[in-house]
Amino acid sequence: MKIRHFMAFFCVCAVLAQQLLCGEDNIEISSSYPGGNAIVENIDQESNTVEIRQDMRDTKPWWFYWNFKAKNIGGKTVKFKFVDKTKPWRVIDAFGPAISTDGGKTWKWQNPKENTAVNEFSYTAPEGINEAQFSYCIPYLYSDFELFAKEFEGKNGFKVEPFCKTRQGRQNFCIKLNESSAKEKPRIFLASRHHACEATGSYVLEGFMRELFSDSEEGKALRSAAEYFIIPMMDLDGVENGDQGKSRVPHDHNRDYIDTPIYPSVAAAKKKLLEWESSGGTDIIIDFHSPSIGSKSKDGKTFSINSVVFLPGQNDSEKETQQRLFSEILEDINTSELPFLASDFLPFGKSWNKDPHTTGLAKYGATLKGTKLSTSFETPYATCRGVKTSKENLKELGRCVAKALLKYIKTLQ
Ligand SMILES: [Zn+2]
Repeated sequence: MKIRHFMAFFCVCAVLAQQLLCGEDNIEISSSYPGGNAIVENIDQESNTVEIRQDMRDTKPWWFYWNFKAKNIGGKTVKFKFVDKTKPWRVIDAFGPAISTDGGKTWKWQNPKENTAVNEFSYTAPEGINEAQFSYCIPYLYSDFELFAKEFEGKNGFKVEPFCKTRQGRQNFCIKLNESSAKEKPRIFLASRHHACEATGSYVLEGFMRELFSDSEEGKALRSAAEYFIIPMMDLDGVENGDQGKSRVPHDHNRDYIDTPIYPSVAAAKKKLLEWESSGGTDIIIDFHSPSIGSKSKDGKTFSINSVVFLPGQNDSEKETQQRLFSEILEDINTSELPFLASDFLPFGKSWNKDPHTTGLAKYGATLKGTKLSTSFETPYATCRGVKTSKENLKELGRCVAKALLKYIKTLQ
């Protein structure tokens, strides 16, 4: 017996030694999966410290999206330090990193309350967890859209159709409803992800579509009220590659509404809008975005422009009037957890909204004949007037946007 015990002990020691030699227990970082984005600078296996930074790819000068997995972290407290030598600026929002321990299905913000944004966080894996995924925000990838599309395929006319091939050969897609060449109803054109990393915009747009194709009274009324053309992922390549997508060189998708666009999706979107312009115009254009990094409110009452849902105002008083009218309707109708105040409107000439020469979809749409409302719709990544964003409340906000639009359409008649 004693010899057997000794042999068993010897075998366990041999396995442990082998694991140590092979580094099987070492912390490993990966980002080679859809939406992944990170550059590892250093991993100190003794102090469990990972030095890491976001990968800019072709974005200049700076942006803040990152998303990575850490393996072999069971039983350890790991410190993740962001070391961006070109611009050492905070890259963790007010509720900390978004964390998933089930392969990206569900996400939780780390901090229960808003904190001052920082450049590092520590994480102790719960019992039985050896791998976790961390991200600047709750991601929304093609696989998220696919889950929604499978749930809705065939429901009340919901159908995913080919839109264009991307530069990298992916099949981009759109959703059409009641399309007619002779204009019979008001026309609504919706898009998101002109900037690849802006995932909250996708959740809001999905929520919009959930209402539009639902069995609710509002869903039915929305379907009979208008024609729709929806492009959920303008920069599909960037979303899947985990790019920042904002401020790409020579310019990003939302600066591509020029005479000869360089991105196939923008060329196809322009073609559709021009086709609609020549047959009565597009009444409503909404482009869903996310702003910049949010922050903790200093006094609990005033909030940064990046921590509220808002519409950036057009440089055209008639168009601005329509944006403000829609904002007031939405404030009145919004029942989601995420607050929406019409007074958070960002007028042209304030903050970053000053450039009269920008070529984004909302600005371009406003120049087309027949457009009444053309707007970007900005939804913060993490903190919305102190409320944590979640997949659920972002989608609920989108449903409320759809209901508000139904009411707005009635003002056109
Ligand atoms: Zn954007």
